[in-house]
Amino acid sequence: MTGLELSRSRALFAEAQGLLPGGVSSPVRAFRSVGGDPIFFARGEGAEVWDEDGNRYVDCCCSWGPLALGHAHPAVVEAVCEAARKGTSFGTPTAEELALARLVRELQPLAERVRFVSSGTEAVMSAVRLARGATGRDLLLKFDGCYHGHADYLLVKAGSGLATAGQADSAGVPEAIAGTTAVLPLGDLDALRAFFRERGAEVAAAIVEPVPANCGLLLQEPAFLEALRAETRAAGALLIFDEVISGFRLGPRGAAGRYGIEPDLLTFGKVIGGGLPVGAYAGRAELMEQVAPSGPVYQAGTLSGNPVAMAAGRAALEALRDGGWERLAERGERLAALLEPVLAPHPVSLVREGSIFWLAFQEPAPRAWHQVDRAGAERYRVLHRALLERGVYLAPSAYEVGFLSTAHTDEHLEAIAAALVDALPLACGGSA
Ligand SMILES: *Cc1c(COP(=O)(O)O)cnc(C)c1O
Repeated sequence: MTGLELSRSRALFAEAQGLLPGGVSSPVRAFRSVGGDPIFFARGEGAEVWDEDGNRYVDCCCSWGPLALGHAHPAVVEAVCEAARKGTSFGTPTAEELALARLVRELQPLAERVRFVSSGTEAVMSAVRLARGATGRDLLLKFDGCYHGHADYLLVKAGSGLATAGQADSAGVPEAIAGTTAVLPLGDLDALRAFFRERGAEVAAAIVEPVPANCGLLLQEPAFLEALRAETRAAGALLIFDEVISGFRLGPRGAAGRYGIEPDLLTFGKVIGGGLPVGAYAGRAELMEQVAPSGPVYQAGTLSGNPVAMAAGRAALEALRDGGWERLAERGERLAALLEPVLAPHPVSLVREGSIFWLAFQEPAPRAWHQVDRAGAERYRVLHRALLERGVYLAPSAYEVGFLSTAHTDEHLEAIAAALVDALPLACGGSA
C-alpha cells in the first residue's frame, strides 16, 4: 500500500506499545484517525523533518504549532545551549523569566502581569481558577468546537437538545464537575444572547479560542466575538481569550489584535516557548495580582519559569518580532495562491488565517462544529497517506490544522502544492 520504507518506525512503535499507553505520550500522535502506525521523527531542520527510516518530509505540523520558526532555529538552539550550560533549573526567580515577561508585555500590552506555567492546559486551568476566584462565581461558558486542554471541566461536550449544561467527554470526569461548564455553539448570536439573559449572573468567565483551530479552523465573524465581549462585560463576567495557538503566531497581539477586542485574560502556550514546554496566563495588573502570593488564588509550579524554556521563548519571540510575523503572513498568502488552482477542481475549501491553514472537504467552509461534514475524515485518511508518500507531513487527523513556519521556502510550498495535485484526486474520488 505504501511506497515508504517505515520498518524502523514500525519496530519502535511495536516496542512503544508495551511501554506507553497506546504507544504514545499524547493520543492523536497514534495515527488512529488516519490509520497505519505513527512515524517516529528523528531530526528536524527548518521546514524539514527526517524520520527514523531516513525519509524526509516537508513538515506542515510544526509540532502542532509551536515551531513558528521551524525546527532547530539557530537563535533558539543557541539560547537553549547557553542557558543550559548555566544550570537547567533553580526554583528561584531568574533574570531570564523577566526578559521573556518584558518582551511579552512589550508585544501585547494587555499582558500587564504574566504568570508562567509549563503547558497550555496549565495556563487555561489557572486562568479559569483566577476568573472564578475574582468573580466569586462558578459557571464557565465554553464553545463547542474549541479545545482548551484537558482540565476536567473543559473535557466537556455540548448536552443534548437545547440544554447548555455540559456533559463529560472523558471517563473520569465527574458529572458534577462537567456541570460547572455550559457549552454553546460557535457563532450563534441568538443562543449567546438567550444564554446570558437566563444565566449571565452565574457566569465567572467565557472562554473561547478567538481563532478556533482545534476542530478544523472555524473562523468566526467579528460580530460574534464582539457580542461575546459585550455580553460578558454586561454580566460582570470575564472574557478569556485562549490564544495558545494564535498568540505570537498571528502577530504580536495575536487574535485580540486581529479582531481589536480586549479580553480580560489571555492564555498562551505553543509559540511562546519556542518549542520548549511553556505556557502563560496574563491580563490586567489588578486582576492578575489576585494570584498567590499577592492574592488568594493559589497556583504554583516547580519548573515554572524554567530558565532554559524561558530562553527558548525569548529567542523565538525576538526572531518573530524582527521580521518573523511579516514572513509568516506572507508565507500563508503564498501557499493560498499556490493552492487556489490545485483545489479548484475539488469540493475542498482552504481555510486560512495567516500561517494557520485547514483543508475542509466541503464548500463553503464550516464556521461551527455541528456544520463540519464528518465524511471529510475518510477523505482525509486517504489524502494523509498519499501526502506522506510524496514527502509532505500533515497532522494525522482531519480536524487538526496545518502550520507554516518562517523556514518554509517557496520550494517547500511548491512541493506541498505539487503533492496535492497528485493526492487530491485519490482522496476525492471522481470529483475532479
Ligand atoms: C494546545 C492547546 C491547549 C493545550 O495546550 P497543551 O500545551 O497541549 O497543554 C489549550 N488551548 C488551545 C487553544 C490549544 O490549542
